[in-house]
Amino acid sequence: MSTLRARADRRAFLRAAAATGAGLALASPAGAQTVPPGELRLNQLQLIDLSVGLEHDAPGERTKPKIEYVTHAAGGLASMMDTFGAKAEDFVYSNGHGWAVENLAVGSHTATHIDAPYHYGALSGGKPARRIDEVPLEWCFGPAVVLDLRHRMPGEVITVADLERQLRAVEYTIRPDDIVLIHTGAATRWGTPEYFRQPGLDRDSTLWLVDQGVHMIGIDAWTLDREFAAQIADYRRTGDGRYLWPAHFAGMTKEYCQIEKLANLERLPRPHGFYVSCLPIKIKGGSAGWCRAVALVPR
Ligand SMILES: [Zn+2]
Repeated sequence: MSTLRARADRRAFLRAAAATGAGLALASPAGAQTVPPGELRLNQLQLIDLSVGLEHDAPGERTKPKIEYVTHAAGGLASMMDTFGAKAEDFVYSNGHGWAVENLAVGSHTATHIDAPYHYGALSGGKPARRIDEVPLEWCFGPAVVLDLRHRMPGEVITVADLERQLRAVEYTIRPDDIVLIHTGAATRWGTPEYFRQPGLDRDSTLWLVDQGVHMIGIDAWTLDREFAAQIADYRRTGDGRYLWPAHFAGMTKEYCQIEKLANLERLPRPHGFYVSCLPIKIKGGSAGWCRAVALVPR
């Protein structure tokens, strides 16, 4: 590569980094000059956990996760004695204890997780919908913006106008591949029956985001749609099936993923200028995968 070309590439990178608003810790050791990505100072990033825990019988789950804890003193010791053909007293380093492991019976949509397009239907845009192990990693790591929609009450629709208004309020224009986080405040009720009371996107607001080039929409609530009770009430009142699961089913028209059961969005120090990583576990052929969603915020 010529020097001129290298310089142009570097300028393009720095412009792109500046345009993210993140600057992504592009400081030299002296702290003043921007440097190429190979010299990123990761210790200049604050990591904020945006996930809830995967917990036995968690009150925040409709289908209760089951976790069997195999302990050092009991099941772990028995398993090690069997594996190694040894007696308890032979485990001299551990004073007769074995290993600890856990056995899980847990749905793929438990705790903080990514929904793959296949969750919504077999097809997306007329093609076979992607399963969780087929979702591009690039969709799961990128610049993010959080939109504060806490004024929307449980059961209400978060409309296109709501999204546009909030984007204007934080002076941000969505760019392709942005990760958009919907802040409802429901996560502060995690672990209580009130957690399931929430607003949500509808078909129009979901497709509006996807039309901006967004592949990953996150929400700090049980689901991206409104609470089930509100969908059911409107469906029963009108007999109109379009009230049922409209944000999810929108993914059959245009493919996108969602992060459900995010937490701690109120801890984000700014509405944009940070990154989100939400890489899902590769469950072969699965409709979803657990993820440890984390925000990376320049200090
Ligand atoms: Zn899900």
